[in-house]
Amino acid sequence: MARKLFIAGNWKMNKTASEAAADVKRLVELLSGVGDKARVAVCPPFTALDRISSVARSAGMELGAQNLSDKASGAYTGEVSAQMLLDLGVTQVIVGHSERRQFYGENDSIVSKKAIFALASGLCPIVCVGETLEEREAGSTEKVLRTQISGSLDGISAEDMLRTTIAYEPVWAIGTGKTATPQQAQDAHAFIRSLLSAKYGETCAQKVIIQYGGSVKASNSKELMAMPDIDGALVGGASLDPAGFADLVKNAL
Ligand code: PEP
Repeated sequence: MARKLFIAGNWKMNKTASEAAADVKRLVELLSGVGDKARVAVCPPFTALDRISSVARSAGMELGAQNLSDKASGAYTGEVSAQMLLDLGVTQVIVGHSERRQFYGENDSIVSKKAIFALASGLCPIVCVGETLEEREAGSTEKVLRTQISGSLDGISAEDMLRTTIAYEPVWAIGTGKTATPQQAQDAHAFIRSLLSAKYGETCAQKVIIQYGGSVKASNSKELMAMPDIDGALVGGASLDPAGFADLVKNAL
């Protein structure tokens, strides 16, 4: 079953709205024509979403946010709701990124609440999972992934799973320059797909996009994306430079 390549750039807490607008304009030029072969999303900080929305979307690029509230509205200072994101043309939202899990105490239960909320509101979540270096070295990668997949997807139906992307991001490979080998990444992706198959059935599991994230760059995107269960990438550092990100996408096709 062919799954269309889906590459998303997570800009994290980088770029002002003005910088983002200039970079998206450039990215749109550099990526013109790839839309048939791959889906591309940019996930800027909340403050840049409005400024880049129409340029990105009119070029067929998807707009993603990096987080959302698990509440609809009200007295939740500092939170951003699903409706606010939808109003700006956002379609994708990252939930459970390892930096949110590590620095902001998000656990699987919060991640599943956010993912369910996103889906119910009409957004498509990109749910991040991945083991730490200690967990990998202790041989518990599969145990960690089983727990995270089960907890983070708790309450998500098979129908909604088809609108959900999984990002496998080994924490030891994020922002470290250390990339999982294509075989290490493939093994984890195949394991995640087997978990999805057990939970949702093989037909559903074969349709779910599983992105790899962790120091993906233009020089390694091709070999990673060539693996059978790797359907795209969630890219941090290497998505910040439009030329480098465009090369990463083109090399992966
Ligand atoms: C990420 O933050 O999701 C990520 C994968 O970062 P990097 O590409 O910089 O490792």
